[in-house]
Amino acid sequence: MTRRPIIAGNWKMNMTPAESVILSQGISNRYARGWDKVDVVVCPPAIDLRSVFTVLDFDKSNIDVGAQNVHWEPSGAFTGEISIPMLKDVGCSWCIVGHSERREMFGETDGDVNRKVRALVDAKMCAIVCVGESLSMRDGGDAVQFVCDQVRAALAGLDAQEVAFVTVAYEPIWAIGTGRTATPEQAQEMAAAIRATVAELVGQEAADAMRVLYGGSMKPENADGFLACPDVDGGLIGGAALKAEDFAALVEAA
Ligand code: PGA
Repeated sequence: MTRRPIIAGNWKMNMTPAESVILSQGISNRYARGWDKVDVVVCPPAIDLRSVFTVLDFDKSNIDVGAQNVHWEPSGAFTGEISIPMLKDVGCSWCIVGHSERREMFGETDGDVNRKVRALVDAKMCAIVCVGESLSMRDGGDAVQFVCDQVRAALAGLDAQEVAFVTVAYEPIWAIGTGRTATPEQAQEMAAAIRATVAELVGQEAADAMRVLYGGSMKPENADGFLACPDVDGGLIGGAALKAEDFAALVEAA
């Protein structure tokens, strides 16, 4: 089964609106033949979305724009939150959900992640659901079980057609922003386990069609090993997504 690769940039809380224009321009300027074979997604801070679209909306690239988080309710008294109708109005078609930083620092639960995934799928937006274990879980031998439980919780209640809107990003917490990556073997083992879990939930066909990404200190120098794994279909990129040349090199590698 050939799956279309995804290279998604998670800018986290970096880039002012003015800086985001410069970075988007840098990425857009490097747009080349071959990029149309990859789903290229940039996920800036919400306040930058309009600025990024002033660059990316009007060129001929197929670069998509995503948010880093969303609330599951369409509107209401949720101070500081952002809704799906707001994201759609600005032109976003993707959204990251359940990043480990949100789970760890902002108390996001498996239930919250599931509500967000449900709302995004209902709105026909693409969800990048992040899962990943801590170092102590990995050392204790519980990583696969823990990550597959996260996948079950995130996708609870979805059918095979709905899962088509979901990409899972495996991001071991100990590899995020640390410069230390998982090995390609570890990434492959987990990606295969994630796919098997999705097959249990919604059937083999939907599982075979779903993209699974690796994330955690992925950069041009180490990407090839991950991209060669049969069950890894691309990357969710943090630090290296903040440099246009590195991000472009990762798209080329995919
Ligand atoms: P990193 O971040 O590439 O800087 O490790 C990845 C992520 O958190 O999505």
